[in-house]
Amino acid sequence: MSSDDSLKIGISQCLLGEQVRYDGGHKRNSLIVDLLGQVFSWVPVCPEVEAGLGVPREPVELHAGESATRMVGVETGVDHTDALNRFTVRKLEDLDGLSLRGFILKSGSPSCGRQVEVEGAEPEPGLFARAIAERFPALPTAEETELADPFARQNFVERVFAYDRQQKFFTSQRSVGQLVMSHAQVKLQLDAHRPGLHAEVAGTFKEAKDLSYEELGERYLAAMMEALKVPATGSGHFSVLKTVFEGVKKDVAPAVQKELARSLQDYRQGNVPLAVPLSLLRHYVRVQQNPHFNQQTYLEPEPRELLLRPQV
Ligand code: SF4
Repeated sequence: MSSDDSLKIGISQCLLGEQVRYDGGHKRNSLIVDLLGQVFSWVPVCPEVEAGLGVPREPVELHAGESATRMVGVETGVDHTDALNRFTVRKLEDLDGLSLRGFILKSGSPSCGRQVEVEGAEPEPGLFARAIAERFPALPTAEETELADPFARQNFVERVFAYDRQQKFFTSQRSVGQLVMSHAQVKLQLDAHRPGLHAEVAGTFKEAKDLSYEELGERYLAAMMEALKVPATGSGHFSVLKTVFEGVKKDVAPAVQKELARSLQDYRQGNVPLAVPLSLLRHYVRVQQNPHFNQQTYLEPEPRELLLRPQV
């Protein structure tokens, strides 16, 4: 179902059902393949196979080294660190040209996991996962285990679409003024995560006069993506919905006011999903061409994003 303009997401290849694991098996994750695969197109990577370790192969683990963590065979102790690192340098160059919008990593893997056991040291990221985080620090990432939780999945999907919007903005707009104006459009979205979060991210603009546009854009993107990691809460959504309700209610008939107020209360009490009050309010914002809200990303998520939004 994914189309040419679908967002590209890097993924640990075994999660797609490819038989690339050390034992010739896979870790197909049907939620990722069957649900997220409707909207995302995959850029599969198996660091260990692409580094030449072969299938099947001896399993590997991480050991604390003198200057850096090493990846070694569990039985033989053969050191694969250099092969993995050489592959990673090449691969990061390729990935840089692909406009990735996110990365889904296999948990627990010495290559792909975000927090992995290390013999003789505290847990740390797998070698490839660390390299991804260093090269693309603002790129949304998640492990497959997190995505089973609907709230965490929603959060990842939201970050992917927000990252995409921001990257598109950077390719078409080139001024600080336009960046500041675009930030006004994410006010409700950020404040649903935590009241005042929008203002915190806007703090980036205080440094504007000392930075080039590129530097400012990079810092802004980092601040925005970090802020969106704060989980959105039911009370955060309610407070944002209430703000919109207060803004539209004076221009609607009393019966509509009542209907809107009831849907907000129903949402607050857990009787209806967020989509119910959100769709109603969006309708009246559009009808009124309400200047305060009609460009808010919170009210206008992409249809593809809605398709992946769980009923929470
Ligand atoms: S976890 Fe990473 S390295 Fe291991 S099989 Fe999956 S993709 Fe390959």
